[in-house]
Amino acid sequence: MPSFADVALAVPLDMAFTYAVPPGMEPVVGGRVLVPFRQRRMSGIVVELHDRAPSVKTKNVLQAIDAAPVLNEELLRLGRWIADYYLAPVGEVFRTMLPLGAEFKKSIGYRVLDAGQMALHMAGMSGSSARSQRTPDEQLVEFRVLEYLTDRDIVRAESLRSSTGASKAILAGMVRKKWIAREDFSGARDATRTAKHAVLRSAEGKLNENQKALVDTLAAAGGRVAVETLQALDVPRTTLGTLVKRGLVEIVEEPAEFTMSGVKPRTSPFDFEFNPAQQQALTKIRDGVDKKKFAGLLLHGVTGSGKTAVYLAGMRAVLDAGRSAILLVPEIGLTPAVAADLHQVFGGEVAILHSGLSDQERAEQWHRISRGEARMVVGTRSAVFAPVADLALIIVDEEQDSSYKQEEMPRYHARDVAVMRAKMTNAVVVLGSATPSLESYFNAKKNKYSLVELRDRVEDRPLPEVEIIDMRQEFQETGHEQVISRKLSQEIQERLDRNEQVMVLLNRRGYSPVALCRTCGKSLECRNCAIALTHHKRERKMECHYCGYTAPVPRNCVHCGSEYVYFLGTGSEKLEELLHSMFPQARIGRLDRDTVRGREDFERMLAGMNAGEIDLLVGTQMIAKGHDIHGVTLVGVVGADMALGMPDFRAAERTFQLLTQVAGRAGRGETPGRVVFQTYFPDHYAVQYAAQHDFLGFYEKELRFRSWMHYPPYSALANVLVRGEKLDEVLRWSGLLGKWFESTRHEGIRVLGPAAAPILRLKRDYRYHFVLKSPSREKLNTLLRAALNYAAQQKIPRTQIVVDVDALWLM
Ligand SMILES: [Zn+2]
Ligand SMILES: [Zn+2]
Repeated sequence: MPSFADVALAVPLDMAFTYAVPPGMEPVVGGRVLVPFRQRRMSGIVVELHDRAPSVKTKNVLQAIDAAPVLNEELLRLGRWIADYYLAPVGEVFRTMLPLGAEFKKSIGYRVLDAGQMALHMAGMSGSSARSQRTPDEQLVEFRVLEYLTDRDIVRAESLRSSTGASKAILAGMVRKKWIAREDFSGARDATRTAKHAVLRSAEGKLNENQKALVDTLAAAGGRVAVETLQALDVPRTTLGTLVKRGLVEIVEEPAEFTMSGVKPRTSPFDFEFNPAQQQALTKIRDGVDKKKFAGLLLHGVTGSGKTAVYLAGMRAVLDAGRSAILLVPEIGLTPAVAADLHQVFGGEVAILHSGLSDQERAEQWHRISRGEARMVVGTRSAVFAPVADLALIIVDEEQDSSYKQEEMPRYHARDVAVMRAKMTNAVVVLGSATPSLESYFNAKKNKYSLVELRDRVEDRPLPEVEIIDMRQEFQETGHEQVISRKLSQEIQERLDRNEQVMVLLNRRGYSPVALCRTCGKSLECRNCAIALTHHKRERKMECHYCGYTAPVPRNCVHCGSEYVYFLGTGSEKLEELLHSMFPQARIGRLDRDTVRGREDFERMLAGMNAGEIDLLVGTQMIAKGHDIHGVTLVGVVGADMALGMPDFRAAERTFQLLTQVAGRAGRGETPGRVVFQTYFPDHYAVQYAAQHDFLGFYEKELRFRSWMHYPPYSALANVLVRGEKLDEVLRWSGLLGKWFESTRHEGIRVLGPAAAPILRLKRDYRYHFVLKSPSREKLNTLLRAALNYAAQQKIPRTQIVVDVDALWLM
């Protein structure tokens, strides 16, 4: 066994740490070990085992957690690539790749110190150690603690307290006297969920009525029933205990059976019947999989063109070949209905990973995949790291969705990681979208991917007709600001009269986005961010949509005390109220983050819609992304241009995507849908092309703009953010970096900044940023690395500089 292990730890330092491997311990590369780090115990990943003694003294590895790697060679390589590409510490990357947090328990331990040993010894000599204010009881407990610790190295806080009856206060007092030491005693633990079962051993002897009830239940179930089930019966809880004592029943504890949470059975069978375009896509996937060579495929298909069926058939083919596939879906795309489809097609071979799982469930799914029990993996962003063997296919559904980008360290984009993983393993990657990102479409046009267009809507449903309402004109003609134009109002009324369903999108939650003082002109801002607080009427609060801070609804201006506080603007909550007053007969539902707390709420609302229990659905972008809405004949968009005012080069692309997605919700069977966009920028090309369902037109126009401005896909882009709670520090740090960028002048790289970030203060941090652009990704990466080194030399804390490669937001 080599004597040293290099370990990657999840700390913000771009290095691995060397530890000595004690004799008899056998850590493995790619396996987890427990090591001391500063005053803590941490679990990390072994990246190398060697015999090169470092110049400094090393500490010992405390425990080798895994006998076999949890990150195989392929995943280690992928992790290193991410660390390099996104300039993230590799230990943080590995932690993100492994959803095994449940297998590490944070805890505190105590050990006895010399002074404690001495005190115990003295007490033994004199029989007592009086002369103190403490009650004898307390003293007794202290000695019990010392005695208990004497023959033990370190004892977990919980077991020490339960064994000695010591309170937290007593232990704290002993720490102060330096009798005992309090230390991090975190460690690995078995996170397997277990369940208790009652097993019938004998039914002989006399039984009372309650006992007989339990025994009969057990016998009827074949002699074995979950304890939980028995406890739900109408029998005193003690009865089971009595049966156990009499030896008639035995309780056994076993790993709990795997159950899929949030899955409901599908009622109709899932069948594949393909049109020629779908067939073509499927053939390309199958060919690529058979060749075992990397291939990329962009599947561009309007909403309802049947992309999902292609995905599932492709995965089915992979499964039949005994290989593995991963399907990535956006955060909101994984409804219980989708899970049910997957279950129907793949049965027990499917593993589902999403943010609604508990840590334990997540770890369980991970192990099922790792053991090869589930070869078809479906999940949100981090499922791209699923430890499948023999990966043949990765599919990224709605590849343009921003939930694929992680907005914290490591700031990876799951779509791009999927492409890289496919390259590394000679797999096929399929990117699917109704509105592909500029980057992906550009790559397809440059033949990096092959492009398959699914033009036909299933059953040849016609595309909806879109009308643009100029809200400036509406204002001129009516003399006041309208939320719902006369035209949209009339269209809604017509649909309601015909018992058809309507959807209205307003991509802003809450009641009013601004509370403004008419006396001093100031608005009520968040305490932690330079952001106006949003009024939430029903919950009677003001809320920051960036950090979650809440404040009471003000009666008077917080700045000048004036009572003329006005609530301006309209959010989805107010729109719902307004529609209620305009259409009192209509049954109205609302879909936004305030009404939908989890997947189930979302599903319930959609089910209500499909069952015809809702006439009018109001909501934020959530309604644009609901996959299962069928009966809507009119879609209205209020504030179609809201994102266009943002200082962000992706604003037009986002607007186009959102409008296209929501317009795609209109139409039912033979009935063509109708869409109304209300906007103050009726001539903006994002609005115009979305109204004409013209992706290509938008794409070409936007590409010209990107080319002029040297934005992606023509340049690699990084946002470097300097943040901190003290403004003067942030100014000094960004000034230092700015001078450094200027003095080092790098050919072929544009550096903009330092400039105040559009959101100057966020979550208590002041923010200044640089935007770096270069046609050469390599040069950009080298410069960023050098900048981080310079920052380290200048003692700017690593956590205060955020490097966001391929940033989606420049806010
Ligand atoms: Zn005021
Ligand atoms: Zn805030």
